[in-house]
Amino acid sequence: MSRSIARLLSTSASCSSSNSSSSNNSKPVVNTLESLVAMCKRRGFVHVSGEQFNNGLAGAFDYGPLGTQLKRHIADAWWRAFVERRGDVHGVDTPVLLHPRVWQLAGHVEHFADAVVECRHCGASSRADHVVGAAGDALDDAALAAHIVAHRASLACAHCGRKDAFGDKPPTRRNLMFDTHVGAAAAGLRTYLRPETAQGVFATAKHVMYTLRALPPFGLGQIGRAFRNEIAPGHFLFRMREFEQCELEYFCTQADLPAQLHYWIEFTEAFLTEQLGIPSARLRRRPHRTADDVQPTDDDSFVNSAHYARRGGADLEFRFAFGWSELCGIANRGTFDTERHNITADDGSLLHVVEPSLGLDRLVLAVLDACWRPRLSLPAVGGVDPSGDASIQRDILTLPAQLAPYKFAVLPIRKRDDMLDVARALQRRLMQHARTDMDVTTSIGKRYRRQDEIGTPVCVTIDEQSLLDSTVTLRDRDTTKQIRLTTDQLLDRVKLGSAFTF
Ligand code: ATP
Repeated sequence: MSRSIARLLSTSASCSSSNSSSSNNSKPVVNTLESLVAMCKRRGFVHVSGEQFNNGLAGAFDYGPLGTQLKRHIADAWWRAFVERRGDVHGVDTPVLLHPRVWQLAGHVEHFADAVVECRHCGASSRADHVVGAAGDALDDAALAAHIVAHRASLACAHCGRKDAFGDKPPTRRNLMFDTHVGAAAAGLRTYLRPETAQGVFATAKHVMYTLRALPPFGLGQIGRAFRNEIAPGHFLFRMREFEQCELEYFCTQADLPAQLHYWIEFTEAFLTEQLGIPSARLRRRPHRTADDVQPTDDDSFVNSAHYARRGGADLEFRFAFGWSELCGIANRGTFDTERHNITADDGSLLHVVEPSLGLDRLVLAVLDACWRPRLSLPAVGGVDPSGDASIQRDILTLPAQLAPYKFAVLPIRKRDDMLDVARALQRRLMQHARTDMDVTTSIGKRYRRQDEIGTPVCVTIDEQSLLDSTVTLRDRDTTKQIRLTTDQLLDRVKLGSAFTF
């Protein structure tokens, strides 16, 4: 394993490690994530930003051309499902820099903090709940401190690996917001880079209600950057310091709240499985334990929630290659924010808010993780590759067609002018409808394997016959099945949206 990949994988980031080796997870999971991270760099999906400078900045990533396409397709799917196709939801786009008063009102200046412990040996900081493990999610600060003291001899530092790392010192709280100055540095207004996109929505909601004459129930959706000075960024795209969120704030009456919470949890689950192709066996719910609940315990079927949340919300966890961990959350924000921004129904009663909040980069990671099949040995079904190597091991990214960076790859079998002309003309026609790669390098077998690895659902091969009768061979990524069609038939299928099933 290269040192840079090892660094990306090693972290004390939250994951229910006690569950990571659960019985339904028998694959060699670390190898899977390791090979995925390597592929992402090699093929231009994602890599550490500024890697050339002392291994880069922890928690910051560059998306390359393929990763940018994949991320955009996931964001588009979210926007379509949560905003575009719903009459009751509208889109907004609010700034990263908000007036500092917003963050005081929101409670973030006081509460948006993690409990942190420092290693007595190497001085590295770790999140106290991560040190405790799976049960840490459900403990408040006092219970965390007690747990760390009770188990001090066995608790190891994630950075240097030494035991009895934290002694008896109670955890301290560290705010996660990046602060900054607006205007001339010395005299300027001190504010923060937003740690969640939601607050911009609350600050603008009254005005939107006025312009749209919106009555509850209605929602405001937004996709945008968020910044958190995480104590321990890691697990690749799982915990970053700059990331994107897809958030919906759904405003409803108190009477409607239970039904809306139920609806949005189910809706979000259906989005993950049906639109992003995430297998339901790798998803589970963890209800939020909140300030209005009984005293926290180390019952890890619950997860502690943010300071604004009330009972009834849930995290949706995904079984990542490194274990079960939060993919997204559906929070019951109650009237916490509407009280502060005076957002009311016509009768003056405060509106309640349900918030499905999905981290876009975590979705990218979950989709990649769910679709990555390294070293898969798959014989051809109903056809063989022209190279005759259809049963050799391949790395496949089984992305749903709508998420794939390229929908088609046009592959002329020889690098000859007449074939290249036909291939370029077909690429141009396909590009009117879907992003299409063209590859003329190396052997056809290697080109197929490259497209399999980046998730291209269909390869279109041009050969001698194509020059005579305008037919081409379509090859399915997952089964390697092949069929022969004329280019016009192919285009008809593309227009009908049926080019990916044969
Ligand atoms: P965690 O417990 O993992 O720190 P959180 O409960 O603080 O997450 P929320 O504040 O509920 O997360 O944020 C909503 C969503 O934003 C999360 O479910 C996740 O998908 C995403 N998210 C939060 N923090 C990060 C991060 N540092 N990097 C990438 N995505 C993140």
